[in-house]
Amino acid sequence: MGSIKWKLVFLYILLVVFVIVVSGVYIIMSVQRNQYKEIYTELEYTSDRIVDTLQTASLEEESDIQAVFAEVISALMLESVNMDTKNIYLLDQNGDMVYYRDSALTQADLASRTIMDALAGKTIDELYVHRVNEEEESISVGDYARSFPLRYRSSGESNTYILFIRQTMAEVERTVYNTMMIIITASAVAILIAGVLAYFLAGTISSPLRRLTHKTQEMAKGNLEAAGEEPAIPLGNNDELMELESNFAYMGRELSNMLREVNNEKNKLSTVFSYMADGLVVYNTEGTMVQSNPAAAKLLGDRILYEDFNAIFAPLTIEELLAAEEKTHTQLMQVEGAYINAIFVEYMEEEGVIAGLIVVLQDTTEQKQMEEMQKEFVANVSHELRTPITTIKSYVETLMDGAKDEPEVEEQFLHVINHESDRMTYLITELLELSRIDSRQVKLQLEPVDLTQLVRDSVEEHLFLARQKEQSLTFTGSTTSYFIEADKQRVEQVLRNLITNAVKYSPEKASITLGMRPRPRTGRIEVFVRDTGMGIEKKEQERIFERFYRVDKARSRSMGGTGLGLAIAREIMDMHHGEIWVESRYGSGSTFWLSFPLLEPKEETV
Ligand code: ADP
Repeated sequence: MGSIKWKLVFLYILLVVFVIVVSGVYIIMSVQRNQYKEIYTELEYTSDRIVDTLQTASLEEESDIQAVFAEVISALMLESVNMDTKNIYLLDQNGDMVYYRDSALTQADLASRTIMDALAGKTIDELYVHRVNEEEESISVGDYARSFPLRYRSSGESNTYILFIRQTMAEVERTVYNTMMIIITASAVAILIAGVLAYFLAGTISSPLRRLTHKTQEMAKGNLEAAGEEPAIPLGNNDELMELESNFAYMGRELSNMLREVNNEKNKLSTVFSYMADGLVVYNTEGTMVQSNPAAAKLLGDRILYEDFNAIFAPLTIEELLAAEEKTHTQLMQVEGAYINAIFVEYMEEEGVIAGLIVVLQDTTEQKQMEEMQKEFVANVSHELRTPITTIKSYVETLMDGAKDEPEVEEQFLHVINHESDRMTYLITELLELSRIDSRQVKLQLEPVDLTQLVRDSVEEHLFLARQKEQSLTFTGSTTSYFIEADKQRVEQVLRNLITNAVKYSPEKASITLGMRPRPRTGRIEVFVRDTGMGIEKKEQERIFERFYRVDKARSRSMGGTGLGLAIAREIMDMHHGEIWVESRYGSGSTFWLSFPLLEPKEETV
């Protein structure tokens, strides 16, 4: 009942009731006034007739008045003036009753306002309506009075009389009452109709409002889809409320779209946040962690979850950083062997209000290692070059100091100088080779190569070298051809390096075997170079492929090694999508393995 619909219905009915009451009262009063007027006119006519008749009757004395009255009353009745409702009295100027028709006037009646006014000689121009008690009953009456002179023939004197007529108003009252009843009935019907109409009319206002209310509730619940539904507007009924409803639906849709976009953005950001390589930690102004990503936890550990800023980044404090002039600050940190570059940036809540600090953590360990490696490499190169130069220089100086005078010594010295120069040339060649590989200048001349043949040829080529140390160098395995797509010269280079190493690092009379192992399941072919030499310790096995790494520097150098051979071999294998690794037992020998993708398995017998 408290709804706007019922309020509108109530208001409408109230308005109708007000209009009806006002107009009803007006109508009733008008009816009453008209009735009074009519009665007054009738009484005036009656009195005129009586007075005229009395004055023209040429009365002898007062007692003749009775007869005149009887005559005029019956004449009036013939004229259908209703005399039943009228009581007629004639009073002399002392107020004594000269004539009356039905009942005498009481003392109270004689003091009636109309009679007093008539006695005072005033003209009464309207009906005086009031109530009197008649036989224990209160009835409404209308009084009329007028004074007039009457001359008697006998005495010739003129006396003033008062004609007083009292009209019973029962008829008028009935008419007014009937009118009122009609008005009340009509009002009741009108109110009923108004009520029904108001109910339907209010419905057209309240139903869009109700829908609107429902939509706002849906919106509050977060169901923007429902709030955005376009209302079904009846044709031609596009009033302000409908427009409001339609606008509200539009707003709902816009809001829902906006929210979707914001959510998308948020999701995007949170994905970036979660998967970015850099660590991110957000702190509030108190230094408490607000948000962090997995990368940050990986770099700094779980402590970022429960330790505050000052504990983690000591000696830096958040208070100092926030108070500093600069908006960003960078710090290099070392955490458990890793190098982390931390960037601290203030972030704003709104214009001019600092909300806290965002810390970006970058893992620079690899970069650092690269730098270290580069430094080490330059140092190694310098050292490797200086050693032969120092040797050459000292020998040249000795020669200059007179050693050249002894032909035997001179020849020996020149031989050493030549050997060192060769070594330097070889070192520089290898370095250039590596640098060309690094800068991707080396282009492979790819062609189908019979790997079996290549391995067998390499064995042939190095037989002489092996024989110098009385070592046996053999190819074990079948004559089956295995084809790979490769740069023949480069693969030869790798094999050469492995065979010379095997010769170098194995004692005299050792045996060196080469062979092949097809891997049809993975589509690859493997080549091995096995020796019964000194072997390589486990911890050295991976490192020997690094540039300049040698297990025994002095020994390697004395054997003409540069420490670059295996590094170059690995680069060449990478370029062929191949692999290189070593299996070895210290003291009993090593096996170096090469693996290539097979071009197509071909069975050929040579
Ligand atoms: P180098 O020019 O010194 O031979 P490499 O890169 O060819 O350089 O080899 C690196 C190191 O690996 C060698 O110095 C040596 O210590 C070790 N090495 C290589 N091949 C063998 C092998 N067959 N047996 C034992 N050690 C080996």
